Amino acid sequence: MKLAILGSTGSIGTQALNIIENQNIKVSVLSCSRNVDLILEQYKKFKPEWIVIENSQSYEKVKLELSQEPVKILCSLEGLIEVAQVADYDVMLTSVVGAVGLRPTIEAVKRGKRIALANKETLVVFGEQIMRLAAETGSEIIPVDSEHSALFQALQGNSYSEIEKLILTASGGPFRGRSRDELLGVTKHEALRHPNWSMGAKITIDSSTLMNKGLEVIEARWLFGIRSEAIDVVVHPESIVHSLVQYVDGSVMAQMGLPDMMLPIHYALHYPNRIKTDLARLDLAEIGCLNFSKPDLKTFPCLQLAYDSLEEGGSSSCVLNAANEVLVEKFLKEEIGFYDIPRGIEMAMSKIDLVRNPDLETVLSIDNETRSFIRTLKF
Ligand code: MN
Repeated sequence: MKLAILGSTGSIGTQALNIIENQNIKVSVLSCSRNVDLILEQYKKFKPEWIVIENSQSYEKVKLELSQEPVKILCSLEGLIEVAQVADYDVMLTSVVGAVGLRPTIEAVKRGKRIALANKETLVVFGEQIMRLAAETGSEIIPVDSEHSALFQALQGNSYSEIEKLILTASGGPFRGRSRDELLGVTKHEALRHPNWSMGAKITIDSSTLMNKGLEVIEARWLFGIRSEAIDVVVHPESIVHSLVQYVDGSVMAQMGLPDMMLPIHYALHYPNRIKTDLARLDLAEIGCLNFSKPDLKTFPCLQLAYDSLEEGGSSSCVLNAANEVLVEKFLKEEIGFYDIPRGIEMAMSKIDLVRNPDLETVLSIDNETRSFIRTLKF
């Protein structure tokens, strides 16, 4: 099997390379934004036919460094799109962060390739359209995110029409159990301390606001074709039950495992087969207790805003996502406070005009418009 990894130096990309190292998988594409040292190291180990570097200065460096090597090196988003269109691969792992993942993923779907999907924006801002396109081309979209992988696994052998409810679990992040008043002055350092999962900075902040779960509700809505009223979130601090499917007969199927992204990555690459791994095994007796509770929507308004965006429909989730991205950047730069994130999103959602059934160009322009709007806000 030939694998293209978009975003190979990030958290998911490096874990994917880790798990496939001794597997019968040929890496044909690697890409990164600007991590020159790491991608050069990855090149030496995996010898892909293509490398794409988003940042132009980093691109020049890599090109110079590998000038004697038999590898085609491309630059920027255009390079990612081209590689998706022409490279030789069976599966594309899209683990780039942000809207940049959208177009290359669409190109791979057009070619009927399997997508191991770790880029949230694809489903959040363009989910309805991309699932329609995938149905036309026969492209399989296999989720990599642990919750969606759990739902996908718990759905094997059953029909989606038998689903009564999808139940996404949420760890609750570092601020679980805290009140709104207690969180007013929290810093980025506190927000970056996630109890269970080790992830990139953006998603770790999203996890502290519960926006990560909100985006996952939106993803699940499109990935499984289930209306948002039938998607629940339950807080489960141990992150052992990765999500559950409740069927129309009342039976509930859960997928469990230690919190380790390697397993869902591995599953997405090899689906429908299960290939042996040496990953650590779950020992329930050792864990002893699993806890579950309702999410606190007052303290974590971002989750409610995600549901609201689905109810509004059209381009609303795109606005939510773009606003959130810029606001999280600002929070990480310590320019705004924790609750300015939901506040800014709400302002964007009421300010930016809703477009029904937006095409890709419209989605991208709304994305841009939202980002500029947030950048002009004074906090
Ligand atoms: Mn997740």
